[in-house]
Amino acid sequence: MTHEPAADPTVSTAFRSGLDVVRSVEPRIADAIGAEIEDQRASLKLIASENYASPAVLLAMGNWLSDKYAEGTVGRRFYAGCRNVDTVESIAAEHARELFGAQHAYVQPHSGIDANLVAFWAVLAQRVESPALERAGARQVNDLSEEDWATLRRELGNQRMLGMSLDAGGHLTHGFRPNISGKMFEQRSYGTDPETGLVDYDAVRAAAREFRPLILIAGYSAYPRLINFRIMREIADEVGATLMVDMAHFAGLVAGKVLTGDLDPVPHAQIVTTTTHKSLRGPRGGMVLCDDSLADQVDRGCPMVLGGPLPHVMAAKAVALAEARQPAFQGYAQRVVDNARALAEGLLRRGARLVTGGTDNHLALIDVSGYGLTGRQAEGALLDAGIVTNRNAVPRDPNGAWYTSGIRVGTPALTTRGLDTAGMDEVAELIDTVLSRTTPGTAKNGKASKATYRLEEGVADQVSKRAADLLAKHPLYPGIDLS
Ligand SMILES: *Cc1c(COP(=O)(O)O)cnc(C)c1O
Repeated sequence: MTHEPAADPTVSTAFRSGLDVVRSVEPRIADAIGAEIEDQRASLKLIASENYASPAVLLAMGNWLSDKYAEGTVGRRFYAGCRNVDTVESIAAEHARELFGAQHAYVQPHSGIDANLVAFWAVLAQRVESPALERAGARQVNDLSEEDWATLRRELGNQRMLGMSLDAGGHLTHGFRPNISGKMFEQRSYGTDPETGLVDYDAVRAAAREFRPLILIAGYSAYPRLINFRIMREIADEVGATLMVDMAHFAGLVAGKVLTGDLDPVPHAQIVTTTTHKSLRGPRGGMVLCDDSLADQVDRGCPMVLGGPLPHVMAAKAVALAEARQPAFQGYAQRVVDNARALAEGLLRRGARLVTGGTDNHLALIDVSGYGLTGRQAEGALLDAGIVTNRNAVPRDPNGAWYTSGIRVGTPALTTRGLDTAGMDEVAELIDTVLSRTTPGTAKNGKASKATYRLEEGVADQVSKRAADLLAKHPLYPGIDLS
């Protein structure tokens, strides 16, 4: 499913008129918005966390819903006049519940990190705060004595989380020190098997038995394989942990029924978080799904960690979720995975080295040390040739998190543009051409640099031209003409 409705000339008129209004106040912003669609159209975008939202999703965001304060939940607001926000939020939540088969959906989080914070605090409230209130015979935290409150605060700050290590593909928000989650929780992480690169469930189980976390977290942003959430739940249950799954990256594959049964986190985890703007193809935002036992705690996301919700973004979430419930979205999700496999196979066939030797989802991780490059060099050379990717650490990366040895590539965006498996094979060829004709630059000390590189004369132009030809066959936002 590409964005066919965009070919409707009224869509073009809507965006053009909107920009004219913006231009009348601050022309530089109108110009930047106009330039962005051209940049997006011109780039071969392989960033695994990005996509292209439909015109309907984009238009649902640009309006007066943004003007409304609506702290609280549907029907229970701290502000008057929330009738339409209630409509918007309840429709978005209903679509989310129906689409994912969840008992409860909370659509207020502004981003993935916010959704995770809501989830952490919902679990802490359920497992640590509520029992403490009960012991003290208090109804709410304001009723606790100073002493009981001090004890509870220490207890809340003394909990454990077990999540996937960063270099195996885990996310910063899963208990790593630079993120608030790592300051809130004592964290330990599980990696992947050094031989296969796959999650080793026996190792996860052993770590969970020893560490006894409050929260076992599963989910990733750079792991190219699938996770069995039934086994993860068994492990969590065995050690008394709550299973939280962060499906920020692969929510679109769950929505599109590519990941079902043991691979669908929703029936297995007590709580599931996601972004809405990655493979799910909605507006930039977050969402929490949970079972009934956590619903009340999750609904306290505002004021716990969120301010007022963004009603215009909730409207866009509702539109995106409605789109994802259409049968065509299942075709899209399947093509995302088929395309990722075609890209991985195309790369392997040309001699590239891939972490885990391939992919089962929407992304692949190229170990560019096979080309004698760092991730930083590879990322730069690819960008020079019009190919947009991001560098990413590989497991046990000798070049660390800044230079890295990996390039992450994902197919959600190009699949929205309509590229098919043959197109992805051509993309593989372009990537391999660039990387095999790039050599490291020389650092000041005469050694090979980790940052600078030399791309053979003419390659950038030649590859850019082929990329542009490929993209021209698959126009982005067809019909939107801002000229
Ligand atoms: C992208 C991502 C996030 C954060 O999402 P933001 O909307 O950028 O805050 C959280 N968790 C995972 C696994 C992600 O991939």
